[in-house]
Amino acid sequence: MPADPARVVADLLELRSLTSQPVEGIPQTVCGRPSDGPPLGSARLAWTEPWVRAREWFASTFDGVPVAIDVDAAGNLWVTLPGARPDRIVLGSHLDSVPNGGWLDGCLGVLAGAEVLRALHRDGVELPVSVSVVDWADEEGARFGRSLFGSGAVAGTLDIDAVRGLVDNAGRELGDVVSEHGVELETVLTAGDVHSSIVASAELHIEQGPLLEAAGLRLAALHGILGVERRMVRLQGQACHAGATPIPLRRDPTVAAARMAVAIRELGLEHDAFTTVGVWRVHPSVATAVNGRTEFSVDMRHLSRGVLDALVDGLQSIVDTIAAEERVGAEVDPLWSIDPIVFHPDLVTFAADVVERRSGVRHVMPSGPMHDSAEMARSGIPTVMMFVPSLNGLSHTHIEDTAEADIELGVAAFDDLVRRMIPWAMARLD
Ligand SMILES: [Zn+2]
Repeated sequence: MPADPARVVADLLELRSLTSQPVEGIPQTVCGRPSDGPPLGSARLAWTEPWVRAREWFASTFDGVPVAIDVDAAGNLWVTLPGARPDRIVLGSHLDSVPNGGWLDGCLGVLAGAEVLRALHRDGVELPVSVSVVDWADEEGARFGRSLFGSGAVAGTLDIDAVRGLVDNAGRELGDVVSEHGVELETVLTAGDVHSSIVASAELHIEQGPLLEAAGLRLAALHGILGVERRMVRLQGQACHAGATPIPLRRDPTVAAARMAVAIRELGLEHDAFTTVGVWRVHPSVATAVNGRTEFSVDMRHLSRGVLDALVDGLQSIVDTIAAEERVGAEVDPLWSIDPIVFHPDLVTFAADVVERRSGVRHVMPSGPMHDSAEMARSGIPTVMMFVPSLNGLSHTHIEDTAEADIELGVAAFDDLVRRMIPWAMARLD
């Protein structure tokens, strides 16, 4: 009995109606059709009441299915269909959302995994391995700025001292807030006890970008997640009067930064990479003064470590060259970096096979956005992901949407993938 894709669409719609709020903004579509009623944005911010409500509802969708449901020391919600062995395949994503985000980001993967679990139970045959659906806690990091909290705890990459002092917009500390949800930072890493039982991991997600739609594709297998190198560039010039100092005599850090931003875009195009100037701060930001200081962030992403290294070197030489020409001081400070994630070749092949069979096109691509699957993969667990398209390439907004037929195709393909992973996992255990 294969998974029922229509059930997943119905569950997604029910979750949307239970945990959304009216938002100001342009009208939205749902399942690719104009929605009746006011535009709704998701309210499932991690560690808040709507998020808890979403999880309670989620647990109730397993009524009549002999699953074990428990929450681990990091707040991850596990639903396990036991098999002959405790070793498990994990189907994970997240129910939490950014404020006024979309109805599919994360929820698609969790609810598709749930339906695959119910379908495996309907088969009426004992599984050789266990299968768990996990709702990873606080994937988005939208409240405290630390993404991948729960999956990072299981992977062992969560730095407790770094997260302890994080505060939300209301000034509340992360440690106090998670404690109200039964999570103590002292013991959070014991969530990793489950790690040795995980044989493989898979995640279905929306693309959140424009590439599939632009190419007319309905499904993709992922071979990895782009690595990130993020820097803050700080330029020091000399503030002066806008009417008294001729242009050739100025040391204008904003002009230098603008030239650098254009060159950084060229650098990205040259390497077929993503390069983004995001933060942009000028001081003193007065209409009648040349700025004295300017700082901007640079986010650089690529699937190849070698290309990332070339981007880091390229950025440094752009900054050095233009800073010298504009006679401003320059510093390039590291903000964050993560190595590219490469998914397991066998699982990528399986995913590409089901994508080809279901959609007619064998399409394999990397993900630019981070996902919980990155934590699984980099902690050594064989992992793979699949994407369905995002309408207009948009996500993290209330108008995020995917055509109903594409959601259903994704669920059916994900079911196929899991059924190929089970014997593969067994073979690895023997
Ligand atoms: Zn997500």
